[in-house]
Amino acid sequence: MRYYICNYCYKEFEPTRRRVQKFCCNSCRSKAHNAKKLKQSKLPTTKIENTNVPTNINPEQTKTKVEAMSVQGVANATLGTLLADWIRLGLTKDVNLPATKGDLVELVKHLTKRYHKILNHPQRHDGTLPYFDLHTNTIIYSFIPLDN
Ligand SMILES: [Zn+2]
Repeated sequence: MRYYICNYCYKEFEPTRRRVQKFCCNSCRSKAHNAKKLKQSKLPTTKIENTNVPTNINPEQTKTKVEAMSVQGVANATLGTLLADWIRLGLTKDVNLPATKGDLVELVKHLTKRYHKILNHPQRHDGTLPYFDLHTNTIIYSFIPLDN
């Protein structure tokens, strides 16, 4: 005979009917029902929050999410690099002077570059270096320097 665990008092009980019973007795069933109602009325946001929590976490989905997040992180790092390059190019050497045409040509040339070396990402075991491809928003690896 298979025993069930009561969802309210967590005691083992022998089912009296063939179908699945969640509670050991009517008393536990009504107490659980009242507790649920009370919780919902006291915390109206709880139920809404719970709908966003996956009850059955699929490891594949989690992996995809983590990968998507690292691509975002790399994109942010790339923007940081762009800003650092911009400063290095001397475009901000005197912020009070208006940008010259030459400054803007340099900047556009830099910003339209497709591949940007990722500085905070290690090279791959085969020696290839990581680059961020602005056209496809992906990380690629290359033997040949692509950022010049
Ligand atoms: Zn019970």
